[in-house]
Parts: sequence; structure tokens; C-alpha cells
Amino acid sequence: MKLFIAVDMEGATGVTCWDHVDPKGAEYNRFRHLLTADVNAAIEGALAGAGGAIDRILVSDGHWNGGNVLIEELNPEAELNSGMISPFSMVEGIQDGHWDIAMFVGYHAMIGTRNAILDHTWSSTRVANLWLNGALVGETGLNSAVCGAFGVPVLMISGDQAVCGEAANWIPGIETAVVKQAQGRTAAQCLPPSVSGAVIRNAAEKAVRGYLGLEGGVVPAPVIVAAPVSISVQFAFSHMADSAILLPGAKRLDGRTVEFTSPDVPTAYRSFRAAVSLANVQA
Ligand SMILES: [Zn+2]
Repeated sequence: MKLFIAVDMEGATGVTCWDHVDPKGAEYNRFRHLLTADVNAAIEGALAGAGGAIDRILVSDGHWNGGNVLIEELNPEAELNSGMISPFSMVEGIQDGHWDIAMFVGYHAMIGTRNAILDHTWSSTRVANLWLNGALVGETGLNSAVCGAFGVPVLMISGDQAVCGEAANWIPGIETAVVKQAQGRTAAQCLPPSVSGAVIRNAAEKAVRGYLGLEGGVVPAPVIVAAPVSISVQFAFSHMADSAILLPGAKRLDGRTVEFTSPDVPTAYRSFRAAVSLANVQA
């Protein structure tokens, strides 16, 4: 069995503010250790759940510049995808096509979620809302759909209670590992790493056991989005839509909203990322 792990940072153990996840932040390096420990906990749990029968693990580092996970501390069973800009960004490597299962570690809720640590969707300065075939989604929804396009189900997610609730609604049967209870966008009651590590490890183990038919309950299916795939981006400001509309195929829905219709999710993903990249923060 082959395991793909997509990693973000806002949902890592102890993270409550941008200073913790911004490479220029004074606290950032502390949280790289904590994030890597969360990833290792997921790996250990998955290996335990599979009785060791996982022959390949890829960790894809999708936060900021993709250079957050400390390779020198990473479980040696795993390889690490690091750096940006990569073709599939937060799920780089999924396109290799040989993964059986996926897990999301350190994830955060979509923009606009109440009581959610650092809630945003891709860019907190540019994206006001995102819809996939009419459904409001965040990074969990979008990235799980990309995994689904390659036939890979997402079995487990870790982060705060908000992203775990969002994932449970979007992916029936997903195991959730809540490492903090957010009380606002930058305030949370956090589990210490020795405890959150056990929570993640247990969730990953249970998820893999469920996938293998060793536990009861619903096994998550790959997220399949029907074609043609429509992706709509509402930007923070109309001048951002002015830029995004330069892309071939872009359709302006209103002052701030641009829509793309694509034959499949990977193409829609590219359109979305290109549109957000074009959108200048300065008017
Ligand atoms: Zn991030």
C-alpha cells in the first residue's frame, strides 16, 4: 500500500497566529519541529494500522514556500516533496498516480469560518470565497477533489475542530484528529505535542484499519467532482478579478467573481491557481 500525506501548517499542534507559520516570524522555527512531529505521528499511526504493510510514503509540504517540514527529523520511511512552484502545489506528487490512500496534516478551515485558526482559502489577502461545482470549498475540499481525480481517498485529517468539522461534512467517514479548539481566528486551546501526537497517531491507525476492513464504519470514498468542472473565485477586490479575467476561458460573473469551466479537476485546479497568482494585491 502507498500513502500520500499532504501537509499544511496552520493546523499544526500549537499554531495560533501568523507569526508561528510565517518563515519570517520569530516563532516559526519552533513550529517546524511541532509540524514535523505531527507528520511523524500520522506516519507511525498509518504504519501501525497497516501492520507495516505500507511500502511507500510521500510527504508533500504545501505551506508557504513548501519548506517547513524538517527532513532531518522526518520518519525515514517517508520521502519529502519540498519547495514551490510545483505542478500540483499542495498535493504535488499525487499526479504520479500510484497512491492508494491520502491523509491531510496541519490543515485549516475555509475562509470565513467562525472560531477557526487562521481560516483562509489559499490566499488570505486575495480569495474571499471559492466554489467547486457550486459548493463552497476551502483547501480541504479543493485538495481532496484533486486527490479524488486520481482515485485516492483522504482517510484522515488533523487540525483544529473547525477544519475537522468541515472535512467530516465533505468526506463522509474521514477520521479527524483535533489538536486544538479554536476560540477565534488567532486564539485556541491547544493540546501539548505529547498528547496531540497520540491523537493523530490513533486517528491515522484507525483510518488505515478501517480502509483495510479491520474496523467498522464508513470508509471514505475518493471525492469525485462531476465534469464539466466549474470553479468560481470571488476575490477580495475587483481589481484582482480585472487581472484574473486575462486568462483564456475566464468568465466574469460580477465585480469580484471569475468562473472557469474545465474538463476535469486538475485543469480546474490550474485555472484557480493561475487566477490567484495573477491577482495583484495592489490596485
Ligand atoms: Zn498554509
